[in-house]
Amino acid sequence: MAAPEIMQNLLDFDAAALTEWFAERGEKPFRARQVLRWMHRFGEADFDAMTDVAKSLRLMLKESACVVAPTPVRDTVSTDGTRKWLLDVGNANAVETVFIPETTRGTLCISSQAGCALDCAFCSTGKQGFNRNLSAGEIIGQLWLANRLLGADPDGERIISNVVMMGMGEPLANFDNVVSALRLMLDDNAYGLSRRRVTVSTSGIVPAMDRLREACPVALAVSLHAPNDALRDELVPINKKYPLKALLGACERYLVSAPRDFITFEYVMLDGINDHDEHARQLIDIARQVSCKFNLIPFNPFPGSGFERSPSSRIKRFSQILQDADIVTTTRKTRGEDVDAACGQLAGQVKDKTRRTQRRVMPITQV
Ligand code: SAH
Ligand code: SF4
Repeated sequence: MAAPEIMQNLLDFDAAALTEWFAERGEKPFRARQVLRWMHRFGEADFDAMTDVAKSLRLMLKESACVVAPTPVRDTVSTDGTRKWLLDVGNANAVETVFIPETTRGTLCISSQAGCALDCAFCSTGKQGFNRNLSAGEIIGQLWLANRLLGADPDGERIISNVVMMGMGEPLANFDNVVSALRLMLDDNAYGLSRRRVTVSTSGIVPAMDRLREACPVALAVSLHAPNDALRDELVPINKKYPLKALLGACERYLVSAPRDFITFEYVMLDGINDHDEHARQLIDIARQVSCKFNLIPFNPFPGSGFERSPSSRIKRFSQILQDADIVTTTRKTRGEDVDAACGQLAGQVKDKTRRTQRRVMPITQV
């Protein structure tokens, strides 16, 4: 007797891969498109509910496939409306997804890895070490799930208008799975988001930046955090492999096919470390080499980090120096801090959280 086929999670497929999987089973491309729309546009997981799909195909799908996103194990709402889900991805690993509502947009911050191998000095995810890459289904599954939990109406106004790959992990170190998920975000039969509203944030893996430009150019944010190699080597260790000159070269090449005509440089403000006037002046030199905007991120502390946030007067002065040199500079509003959902606070550990967050835990909506 033939061994039973392993259930295929269809969330792991972008449109091309789903079409191929269908073709291998004698099914036409338009059938794949139909199922893709049901899954992603309408958030449907039940093949029986896909009413315009032929019965024989539904039967085949029920026998050999499934639509499974990571399981939410905690749903926490911050006083500022930021919502954070802790998702179980098996083997005692958990990742976090954060929804940030604003008046003109809703942004979902998505994780790409359980942990991170790159060990930036100021990052709580980095301190956890690396567990594993998330599958494409686990990455797009965060958007799939958030839409369902937020009650998105496929025919109504979008609740999630922007996606940032700024959760746990280094997206470009999980390239293929991240690109499959990005393609689904952009696909009109799936989420239909504009390329300009999907942002990958990278610590600067130069060859992968070049590959992203060719495979799926979306908006790019680069975690700069230091204006010279000596300091960046300390704060963002991947700099030893891809120093500033190589990084800036990759940024310039990226801009040729990027959907936006600038790179966003993220710069975490660490008290007494990278926030001197001289650092700002060195950044002006960098900004002359690459079309860019700066986004200053007040450091979000976590236990044992050894760093402190620059005082707001310092951040203002730093920002002013850049603005006086005609560099567009914004300071990121810290959101969701009371539930440890702010940048760099995502740790994904179930045990480690304080009672502070548990008090505000909401029951998980049935999905
Ligand atoms: N790995 C990617 C994306 C995830 S981190 C990257 O490094 O770009 C998203 C942003 O949060 C990055 O700019 C990261 O450097 C920053 N960050 C990390 N830890 C932080 C902290 N404790 N406070 C503020 N920002 C932090
Ligand atoms: Fe990894 Fe980004 Fe954290 Fe660095 S800042 S350790 S690349 S998640």
